[in-house]
Amino acid sequence: MQVTIKRNEQQVCVPASATQEGDDEPPDPGSCLAAMPALTVPKHSGRIVRFPAHRAGILSPAARAFRKKYFPGITTKLWNDWQWQTSNRIRTLAQLEKMIVLSDAERAAFTQAATTLPLGITPYYMSLVSPDNPDQPIRRTVIPTLQETLHTAGEADDPLGEDAMSPVPGLVHRYPDRVLLLLSDFCSTYCRYCTRSRVVGHGAIHPSRNRLERAFAYIEQTPAVRDVLISGGDPLMLGEEKLAWVLSRLRQIPHVEIVRIGTKVPAVLPQRITQRLVRMLRQYHPLWMSLHFTHPDECTPEAYRACAMLADAGIPLGSQTVLLKGVNDNLDTMRALIHNLLKMRVRPYYLYQCDPITGSAHFRTPVETGLDIIRGLRGFTSGYALPTYVIDAPGGGGKIPLMPDYVVGRENDALVLRNYENKLYRYPEPCNC
Ligand SMILES: *Cc1c(COP(=O)(O)O)cnc(C)c1O
Repeated sequence: MQVTIKRNEQQVCVPASATQEGDDEPPDPGSCLAAMPALTVPKHSGRIVRFPAHRAGILSPAARAFRKKYFPGITTKLWNDWQWQTSNRIRTLAQLEKMIVLSDAERAAFTQAATTLPLGITPYYMSLVSPDNPDQPIRRTVIPTLQETLHTAGEADDPLGEDAMSPVPGLVHRYPDRVLLLLSDFCSTYCRYCTRSRVVGHGAIHPSRNRLERAFAYIEQTPAVRDVLISGGDPLMLGEEKLAWVLSRLRQIPHVEIVRIGTKVPAVLPQRITQRLVRMLRQYHPLWMSLHFTHPDECTPEAYRACAMLADAGIPLGSQTVLLKGVNDNLDTMRALIHNLLKMRVRPYYLYQCDPITGSAHFRTPVETGLDIIRGLRGFTSGYALPTYVIDAPGGGGKIPLMPDYVVGRENDALVLRNYENKLYRYPEPCNC
């Protein structure tokens, strides 16, 4: 819709939205979604997903069928209530067995050995899990198997040495200018490859005022800290009031320039992204968010809507993806994931080599697999779609980037480079004399 304004005898056309001054309501994500081209979900799932033009009550066909089967009395409104999703998490073997046919290795994870990380899956995310294929990527990320109780060489419970770098409980200070603040150890859905499985889900980290005040005091006394990363556990599992308190306390510290929230909510519990939440969050800019998407099948209309609302609230979105064997360790899957992320206005930020946590051998790939994927993407697709491939160095060295070698060597005064098509080029370097 266009509005015509008369100005100096000239007719100027402006979009209707630009004339609504002082409108502090967040834009209706429904209207943005309506204008968006359809999201093509990657080849291997064979579905084309279109976005409903309305913002309330999004329910994709897979979720609708799942709800009808296992939660027949539940209305769309209740299904889309994040607190209902949270309190109806799948948490026991008995619940799981009603919904999927477990393999022997999966059942054994419950009966033969205790896994350290609890089971937790939202009904929404469970609707994406294959009921009959134990090798389905989404299923592998959330259903335990006996393999996660195996301890192989080089693995540790805290490979990144986070505990040794905590000046205050739940605060990790590894880099000169930024800190990691763990708010709580609770997630709506537990990833089986969690880098913090030693603490997550055990009630070890509480968002208590007392502990957090100690963390704020440390940040206050450390002027070098200009960036605070809030993680956990999933920070967005806290209520708006508590989160607003944390964000406002950090905003009171003059040298804290930016705050980042690390969350998997848009992938596992997109219903958590409400108007109320984004209205609160956008008061604490500059606020950035690191999301966690692992596989293109997570890029549902529900997830798309959640990301649209966050992006419309002015929050720059990045994704941190873990490279996982049998989940996303091939070029086609990774390409489909990063292309979907760009459409969701999420910039692929990091691709992590899987940390050597105890019981992670079945998830870890050789580093060459990651390098091959990067080599297969760089040059063949948008630079914005390319994450930085990193290893978080065991022992607490921080993130170390890994790159295929594009510098071949030197020839007299020229640098010899290899391009994405494997062709050689020479760049004449200026003489350094
Ligand atoms: C990953 C991480 C950060 C943030 O690193 P960036 O490269 O700035 O995203 C900060 N602290 C710790 C302990 C981390 O693991």
